Amino acid sequence: MRAAELIRAGATRADLRRCCAERDIERLREGLYALPSARADVRTAATHGGALACVSALRHHGIWVLDAPGVHVWLGRGGRAHAHPGCRCVAHWETGRARPGVVSVARALVQVARCRGSEAFFVAYESAWRLGKLTATARTWIRQNLDAGMRYLVDFARPDADSGLESLVRLRLAKLGIVLQSQVSIRGVGVVDFVLDGRIILEVDGRENHDGGSSRHKDLGRDARALALGYLPLRFDYAQVMYEWHLVEAAILGARETLGRRSLRPVAGRRGQL
Ligand SMILES: [Zn+2]
Ligand SMILES: [Zn+2]
Repeated sequence: MRAAELIRAGATRADLRRCCAERDIERLREGLYALPSARADVRTAATHGGALACVSALRHHGIWVLDAPGVHVWLGRGGRAHAHPGCRCVAHWETGRARPGVVSVARALVQVARCRGSEAFFVAYESAWRLGKLTATARTWIRQNLDAGMRYLVDFARPDADSGLESLVRLRLAKLGIVLQSQVSIRGVGVVDFVLDGRIILEVDGRENHDGGSSRHKDLGRDARALALGYLPLRFDYAQVMYEWHLVEAAILGARETLGRRSLRPVAGRRGQL
């Protein structure tokens, strides 16, 4: 909070000095104070002159975001950036009046679209929606405030994407004209991330839940059962999707080629159930 706000709320200059001395509050810079419990990134943003914004704000709200360096700070139109030690802030000057704190999920998403591009926006948007942090009103507001060329992403988004990686894969394959069925239940295999062309199973392992030997054993069993039912399972991990997408894309296109798109018929109903 700014000193002016604290004084308007009834504090005196002497109160502020005493509270600082007793460490009830901490002075970030001239005229700006924080509670000891304030998070480090929120303090950094306030010290820089604004509110935690963009990807940094979404991370604060518990939303899955693609990695992005720096602390993103909204200074508002006509705000002022303050120098401070160790500054690696990424400044946002979008319209409005910024105050210390954290920007809303909706505003942060619009900031991400401009700052980090369409993929970063899309994965964060689907994550926020799935977590129940986007009302219909917020979704409409976001769509209106996006650049016209990005509004299709809001229309394409779904509320049930299982992970940010899945969102990313679905968007990238859609750009290649490949339509996926998400979260498909196959009898004998379980729920798989995606099915394409009715025959190819695509599984994307998030980094959190796929690093042990037991999960590898389980995955191999699933793949074997899928093959036995006539499906072709493809499995990729976090690093491959993020850093070796060319390989993932080539594998998917190669698998389609191998199976022959024309002869592909869904195996559902015969040996499995889509
Ligand atoms: Zn800074
Ligand atoms: Zn940003």
